[in-house]
Amino acid sequence: MVCGKIIPASTVTIEIDPATKRMIRKGVAHELDPAAASAVEEALRLMEQVGGTVTLVTMGFNEITIGVRTALAMGATSAVHIFDDALAGSDTLATAKALAAAIGKKPFDLIICGTESSDSYSGIVPGQIARLLGVPPVTFANEMSVEGNTLTVKRQSESGYDVVEADLPALVTVTSGINEPRYPQLKGIMAAKRKEIVQYTAADLGLAAGDVGEAGAREKVLEVGRPAQREAGEVVEDDGDGGKRIAGFLAEAKVL
Ligand SMILES: Cc1cc2nc3c(=O)[nH]c(=O)nc-3n(C[C@H](O)[C@H](O)[C@H](O)COP(=O)(O)OP(=O)(O)OC[C@H]3O[C@@H](n4cnc5c(N)ncnc54)[C@H](O)[C@@H]3O)c2cc1C
Repeated sequence: MVCGKIIPASTVTIEIDPATKRMIRKGVAHELDPAAASAVEEALRLMEQVGGTVTLVTMGFNEITIGVRTALAMGATSAVHIFDDALAGSDTLATAKALAAAIGKKPFDLIICGTESSDSYSGIVPGQIARLLGVPPVTFANEMSVEGNTLTVKRQSESGYDVVEADLPALVTVTSGINEPRYPQLKGIMAAKRKEIVQYTAADLGLAAGDVGEAGAREKVLEVGRPAQREAGEVVEDDGDGGKRIAGFLAEAKVL
């Protein structure tokens, strides 16, 4: 399984709706998030090595179908699209509940996610999905392999990498550097038209109105604004007393 997000295309200037304080997604061009493309690519490589199938699981409005088709054209076997206006306004936990419920409908070995999406960068959803499904989350993979029932990951760290092992089923998040996602070829694009896209509503997933959407959201966006403009700095030109003036400035700022 790959949890892949389909996000406003890189050519779109993101606008925030002042009333709902949500990103305007309806009516704008979308594409498969590059982070999700890396997750799909890694899943396809694994399928080529050890067999099995790759299912993309995603949630969003009609606009996202284009990104679902991209994943299918790359080679994913099928897709699950969670689509319900009742989900609008979901926060990360509500999103994770919907994705986990869809994944949990069938047996699975491995869930691959991007580390964080390229439009909201919270990086929380994968951990929440793992918790809801009771599987170990292995994060920041920049290399991964599966042998028998064991997942082995080189986990990127600040000083290098750690090697981490987990029994399947498990969830892994991959960094963008893990691979170079393939471009869909004409044959794949044609084949994608015949592949199955299963659609689920919140009710299909057993989610009550209070679990998801705005009603179920525990995060509230109170205000959206631009960062305050930085004031212009002071340029010290050295006329012989530059050092003294800088020392005075630092003393005034209580740095010295
Ligand atoms: C009807 C509806 C449509 C929505 N459509 C979108 C949408 O198209 N794009 C969007 O960003 N948010 C959408 N949202 C908002 C969404 O519910 C969350 O608020 C948002 O996805 C928070 O995730 P994040 O990127 O902050 O999480 P992160 O933790 O940054 O995401 C990390 C990873 O989690 C996975 N993931 C996260 N969100 C999704 C998702 N929606 N589908 C599949 N995998 C996911 C991906 O692998 C991603 O790389 C929608 C909400 C509703 C109700």
